[in-house]
Amino acid sequence: MYLQRLEIQGFKSFANKTTILFSEQGEGGRRGLTAIVGPNGSGKSNIADAMRWVMGEQSLKQLRGKKSEDVIFSGSDKRSKMGMAEVSLFLKNEHPSTASVTDEDSIETILTSPEIVITRRLFRDGTSEYLLNGNRARLSDINLLLAKANIGERGFTVIGQGMIDQFLFLSPEERKEAIDEAAGIRHLQIKKNEAERKLDATRENLREAEILLAEIEPRLRSLSRQVKRLSEREALESELKTLQSKHYGSLYRSIHREAQNLKRASSQAEKAVADKEVDLRAIQNKLNTLEKTETSSASLLDFQKELEPLHAERQRLRDRAFEIRVAAERSKNAQLPMAAVIAGIESIHADEQSLLSKIHNATTLEELEAIKTAAAALDARITELLGTIRGETRNKENEKNLAEVERGIHEVNAKINAVQEKIANASKGEREQKSAFFALQREYQNMLEIVTRLRSDLGERRISLAKTEQRLEDIESEIKAEMQIEDIAPLLAGAADEETNKIENPAFGAPLPESPEEAYRHIQRLKQQLASIGGIDPEVVREHGETAVRYETLKTQYDDLISAEGKLLELGKELDETIGRAFHEAFKKISVEFEKFFRILFNGGNAKLIYLEPETAPQPVEGEEADPNAPAKQYRTRPGVDIVAQPPGKRVKSINVLSGGERALTAIALISAIIAVNPSPFVVLDEVDAALDESNSIRFADIVYELTGKTQFIVVTHNRYTMERAGIIYGVTMGDDAVSKILSIRLEEAVIGSTK
Ligand code: ATP
Repeated sequence: MYLQRLEIQGFKSFANKTTILFSEQGEGGRRGLTAIVGPNGSGKSNIADAMRWVMGEQSLKQLRGKKSEDVIFSGSDKRSKMGMAEVSLFLKNEHPSTASVTDEDSIETILTSPEIVITRRLFRDGTSEYLLNGNRARLSDINLLLAKANIGERGFTVIGQGMIDQFLFLSPEERKEAIDEAAGIRHLQIKKNEAERKLDATRENLREAEILLAEIEPRLRSLSRQVKRLSEREALESELKTLQSKHYGSLYRSIHREAQNLKRASSQAEKAVADKEVDLRAIQNKLNTLEKTETSSASLLDFQKELEPLHAERQRLRDRAFEIRVAAERSKNAQLPMAAVIAGIESIHADEQSLLSKIHNATTLEELEAIKTAAAALDARITELLGTIRGETRNKENEKNLAEVERGIHEVNAKINAVQEKIANASKGEREQKSAFFALQREYQNMLEIVTRLRSDLGERRISLAKTEQRLEDIESEIKAEMQIEDIAPLLAGAADEETNKIENPAFGAPLPESPEEAYRHIQRLKQQLASIGGIDPEVVREHGETAVRYETLKTQYDDLISAEGKLLELGKELDETIGRAFHEAFKKISVEFEKFFRILFNGGNAKLIYLEPETAPQPVEGEEADPNAPAKQYRTRPGVDIVAQPPGKRVKSINVLSGGERALTAIALISAIIAVNPSPFVVLDEVDAALDESNSIRFADIVYELTGKTQFIVVTHNRYTMERAGIIYGVTMGDDAVSKILSIRLEEAVIGSTK
C-alpha cells in the first residue's frame, strides 16, 4: 500500500483546492520519496497537519490550533474565510486481494480494494464527517482501518519536529504504548480492550441475571410443586376417565344391546299377534256365516208335526178297519173266540197309544228310528190279527168298506213314509252342519288361545323393554353425573342419530382387565385419591408457565453469558499471549535497530531499549507499623520502556542531559528503528532534521534513503541532501493573499534553490 495523492481544500492556508501527487517508487525497487520545500511560513507543515487531520487526529495541540474550526481557512486581507475544510487521502493497494472477504468486517473489504480514499470534512457550525471510499464512516472505522493498515495513529506515520523531543521525554509507560503501536499490535490491543469492555458488560449482565434467577428460583420451585400435583391430578383424572369409559361403556353397551334385542323381539311379537288376529277374525267371520244358515232343526220339528195328524188318521182308519172286521166276524161266525180277538186288539191299541205318546215326545233322531221300528212291528201284528178276523168273516159290504179303509191306510202310510224320508234327510244335513260348526268353534278356540298367549308374551316383552330402557336412561344419567359430562353422545361417537343410537367409539366400553366389581372399586379409589389431592387454581398453571419461560429465558441468557465470559477470558488470554509475543519480538528487533541507527548517526556510542516490568508495592509486614510520615511512593502498575543512549565516549546517565541535536539524533535513531522493524506504508517527516548539522544531515539523508527500501517517505525539509534523494519535489509558496500554493520543481532547481 502506498500514498498516491492528497487533496486539500479550505484547510488552513490551503484555501484553494490543491492536489499533491506523491512519488510512488524510487530506483532499484525502492519506495518513493517526496520532498516538500519552501520558505518559512509558506504552509509546508500545514500539509503534514492535513495528513494528520484526515487520519482522524483529535489533538488540537498536534494540529497547532485552539479550536477545531482553526483548521478551516480563516481568510486574509485579500481573501474571505471559508465555511468548510476538506482533506482527502488516496491510498493505493499494490496487491488488492481477490480473495473473498467475509462480510463480518466491512473494513476488511475496504482494505482489500484497489483504492482507499479517506475524507474528512469540517464545517464552521462544528458539524464534521468522515468518508471511507465516499461512504459516511465513523472515526472508529477510520482508526480501525488505519490500525489494520499499520498506519500509526500515534505519530509514527506523521512525525513532526516537536514530537522528536516529546518522544524521548515520554513516561516509560507511554513509551511502551508507543512501541506497542510500532510493534503493530495496536489493533490487537483495540480488540483486547473491546474484549475487556465486553467482559465487564458480560459480568455486569451476569450479576443482574444471577440476582433475577435467585429471585425467581424459589417461586418457580413452589409453582412447580403445585403444577406437579396438578399433573398427578390430570394423570389420575385421565386414568379415571379411561376406566369409567370402559366400565360404564361396557355396562351401557350390554344394556343397550339388551334393549335392541328386546325391541326387535317386541316388534316380532307384535307382528305375530297381528298375524294371528287376522286369522282369528277370519274364523269368527266364518262362524257368523254358519250361524246365519243354521235352520234345519226347525224344519225337522215341522216334519214331526206333520207326522202327528198322519198317524192319527191312520189310527182312525185302522180303528175303522178293525170295527169293520169285528162286525164282519160277528156276522159271519158267531163262535169266533171274540174274547181272544178283543184281547189282541186291546193289546195292539195299548201299544199304539204308547207309540203315539213316544212319537209326540220324540226329539232325537234315534228316538224316531226306534218309533219307526216299533210302528213296523205294530203294523205286522195288526195285519196278522186282520187275517185272523178276515178268515172268519166274509161280508161283501164289509169287504168293500174294509178295502176302502185299507186303501186309506195305505195312502196314509205312504204319506208317513214320505215325511219320514224327509225327516231322515233333514237330520243327516243338520248333523253335517253341526259337526262343521263345532270344528270351526274348536279352531276358533285354539286360535283365541294362541292369540291370548301371544298377546301376553308381547306384553311381557314390552314390560321388559320399558324396564331395560329405564335402566339405559338411569345408566346414562349415572355416566353424565360420574363423568361430569352434559351429553354422552360424544362418548358413543357417531350416535347422533337417535334412532339407531349406535356406539362407534371403540374406547367406550373397551374390554377391562378387571371384573366390573373390581373396576367399580378401582373407580372409587381413584376418586378418593383425586379428592385428597384437591383442586388447583388454574392461575397457578398460567403463572408457572410464565415463570418457567422467564426462568428458562434467563437461564439461557445466564448460560450464554457464562459461555461468553469464558470465551472472552479465553480470547483475552490468547490476545495477551499474542500481544506479548509480538511485543517482545518487535521490542527486541527495535532495540537492535535502534542501536544500529544510533551508531550510524553518532558514529559510534551505545544505545538500547530496556523493558520494565510493572512494579508491585511491597506488602506491609505484619506487626510493623507503616511510617505515616514516609512519602507515598508511586508504583508503576503497567510495563514501561526505558532508553539508554550514550554518544561515543560519554557516560550519560539520563537522556535529559543530551544536547538538542543529540536528542534529535537519538529520537531519529529510535524512529528509524521503529520504521525499519514495522514500517507503516508511508511516513511523513516534518522537519525532523532541522536541528542537524551538515554532517548529520548527510547521515540523516542516507538513513532516509536506506529506509525507502521499506517505506514511502514524504519529507518536509530544508535539507538539500534529502532533496537530492527525492523523486518529486514540491515547492510551497504563499503570496500576499496568504494562501499557500504548490508548485512542482525540478530537482536541479531545488538543489540550486536550496543552496543559494
Ligand atoms: P516553517 O518552515 O517556518 O516551519 P511552514 O512552511 O511549515 O513554516 P506552516 O506552519 O505550514 O509554515 O504555515 C504557517 C502559515 O499558515 C501561517 O502563515 C499561518 O498564518 C497559516 N495558517 C495557519 N492556520 C491558518 C488558517 N486557519 N487560515 C489561514 N491561514 C492559516
